[in-house]
Amino acid sequence: MKKIITLSVFVFMLSCATNPFTGKKTLAFVSNAQLFPTAFAQYDQFLTESKVVTGTAKAEMIKRVGERIAVAAERWLDANGQQGYLKDYKWEYNLVNDPAVNAWCMPGGKIVFYTGILDVAQNETAIAAIMGHEVAHALANHGQQRMSAAYIQQGLSVVGNIAITDAKSRQAFNQYYGVGSNVLGMLPFSRKHENESDKIGIYLMAIAGYNPDEAAELWKRMGARSNGQAPPEFLSTHPASATRVKNLQAEAATAKSEARKFGVTQFRPIKNF
Ligand SMILES: [Zn+2]
Repeated sequence: MKKIITLSVFVFMLSCATNPFTGKKTLAFVSNAQLFPTAFAQYDQFLTESKVVTGTAKAEMIKRVGERIAVAAERWLDANGQQGYLKDYKWEYNLVNDPAVNAWCMPGGKIVFYTGILDVAQNETAIAAIMGHEVAHALANHGQQRMSAAYIQQGLSVVGNIAITDAKSRQAFNQYYGVGSNVLGMLPFSRKHENESDKIGIYLMAIAGYNPDEAAELWKRMGARSNGQAPPEFLSTHPASATRVKNLQAEAATAKSEARKFGVTQFRPIKNF
């Protein structure tokens, strides 16, 4: 009992971080300073175990889109009084040769796209929609909140020291961030987190000069993929519901006016690969 009380006090002390995107206090049991080095090491490890595509037009496109989204995120955060928010980020964007329909962003801006998702994306603008959405999860620390909640649920004390080095912890970490290509191994984000990331993501793509109308189109294609063949990994954590498509269609107009504030009045033409 005493242990539980002690843990709760720690949770209270450490968890009250204000989310700059919602202005609300959110659960952030694990700090960036603790999490980023672990994430960076995990990312490097993942890359050594994967077939990283380099030097191709597609690999270059992933980097180009990633850089534009990162710049958009910085401009947007600066304009919203969050200067320095990204100072510890070490952005990296890699394409790996893997048929899984998946993409993810680890804490600190470590991004992976799987070649399997390119078929569904079909064009660079849709890549920007996925990139914006994944970056939004990372910016809003959604994975972190999910990890924190799980630690509390399990009554685990990780205060002051989270060393994700053993195989079991590593597996858990990957689950919370959607890393890996095993559908069953990935935990879904909450609907609230998904809505938040859809909204921030579509702003970021528009500010980066990509037509936000394409976001809803992408999710329509995702949804079509879930019929018949094995459902894409991405869909196990990102249901392509009619509500989602409708919300994105409605949000596109707001994203365009948001982009105008940054001087973006025209978008790149949408051309299939
Ligand atoms: Zn998501």
